[in-house]
Amino acid sequence: MKTEKVDVLVIGAGPAGTVAASIINKAGFKVKIVEKMKFPRFVIGESLLPRCMEALSEAGFVEAVKEKKFQEKYGAKFVKNGKICDYFFADQFTPGWNWTWQVPRAEFDKTLADTVEKMGVPVNYETTVTDIKFNGTDSVTTVEDIEGNKTNIEARFIVDGSGYGRVIPKLFNLDKPSDLAPRRTLFTHVVDKKRSMDDEPNRITIIVHQKGIWIWVIPFSNGNTSVGFVGDPEFFKQYQGTNEEQWRTLIASQPYLAERMKDVEMVFEPRILESWSTTSSTFYGEGFVLTGNVTEFLDPVFSSGVTLATVSSQMAAKLVIRKLNGETIDWDKEYTEPMMQGVNTFRSYVMAWYEGTLDTIFFADKPNLEIKNMICSVLAGYVWDTTNPYVKNHDTALVKLAKLINIEKALAEN
Ligand SMILES: Cc1cc2nc3c(=O)[nH]c(=O)nc-3n(C[C@H](O)[C@H](O)[C@H](O)COP(=O)(O)OP(=O)(O)OC[C@H]3O[C@@H](n4cnc5c(N)ncnc54)[C@H](O)[C@@H]3O)c2cc1C
Repeated sequence: MKTEKVDVLVIGAGPAGTVAASIINKAGFKVKIVEKMKFPRFVIGESLLPRCMEALSEAGFVEAVKEKKFQEKYGAKFVKNGKICDYFFADQFTPGWNWTWQVPRAEFDKTLADTVEKMGVPVNYETTVTDIKFNGTDSVTTVEDIEGNKTNIEARFIVDGSGYGRVIPKLFNLDKPSDLAPRRTLFTHVVDKKRSMDDEPNRITIIVHQKGIWIWVIPFSNGNTSVGFVGDPEFFKQYQGTNEEQWRTLIASQPYLAERMKDVEMVFEPRILESWSTTSSTFYGEGFVLTGNVTEFLDPVFSSGVTLATVSSQMAAKLVIRKLNGETIDWDKEYTEPMMQGVNTFRSYVMAWYEGTLDTIFFADKPNLEIKNMICSVLAGYVWDTTNPYVKNHDTALVKLAKLINIEKALAEN
């Protein structure tokens, strides 16, 4: 069997893998990426958050992505029964990026992978990790290409950015069930010919369809729009027929979209995904670190996935560099704890969304603008800024605010 030697082996060429590979490569280490699929490949997760721009910038990807002229995104709009709640990232509490992109991921991820390759990191496509053996921090990873050729890759460290592939958690029994309820999505891309500037293609629209069921509307610069229904798997059981028939029936029942999406051409037959939330019992081990979706993926509602993927890789890459330079790293303190700070902030918001707490806050008659800007920072992905009370006290602040709004409403009605 062929043998290769690298300093760092990165598994997966998604945003997590490419950001980590770029930052470690820039520090002068020999890095290689192995990727199971041929790119471009489809993956869901199309609405980015401003915070991920910091990670993309550190990885040296921003200019290459700009050249693709993806749809710029400046905020989010929540819609419920004709009521609208506007968020513009420019208003956010935390200083930082106030825009990002909405991207068809096949093209976006290929741009990142091509850019990292140009920087000198080889990307072996259609190459799957089948086994890893650790000897202290050193490892030997067996990979298999599409022709069945096997290679052993010796590495001083592994970054696992394999996303839904969950390579290391599966090989070493690190999978842990999520504490979030299972959800299902039915989604497609449509040729959005009736879209106008009034539909604000430069923001994601999230529509509350009914309690616990919501719709994402993510316009792209190529004229297509991604539209997906998300919610309790039980809700979808009442709809019969093909995925397309179910999607069309659902759209026709949503006043905000029915006319715009009537007889719309679909780019592909609507797809179903279910029960995507998982976590891992540890985010690191001797000789490896998990980044991106492999660590934990919560829920699509606040578009946190790519931001958590790129920021975790940004953090992990710097620790890997220090480790390879001979430093001792306290992975719990320097990686797991800060990562969980961000993940847990989003978790509180996801739970508040499904419990209806955020409905009360988003659609309040007279929102407090100072608080709105603090919440806006969370929606922009700045979930590590603990000077923001709505980050620091994420587990209590939303419930308290919703209670206050309800009391004020009751007083006004009496
Ligand atoms: C319904 C839904 C909607 C979502 N919407 C959003 C959104 O709007 N915005 C957002 O930011 N996020 C969203 N997400 C989350 C988003 O999909 C992920 O968080 C994001 O893709 C994670 O990036 P990653 O680099 O960790 O993994 P991925 O993008 O999944 O990349 C991992 C790569 O590893 C490769 N791989 C897997 N196994 C192996 C192996 N054995 N060997 C070699 N390579 C391997 C895969 O082929 C893949 O290319 C959504 C998720 C769901 C389920």
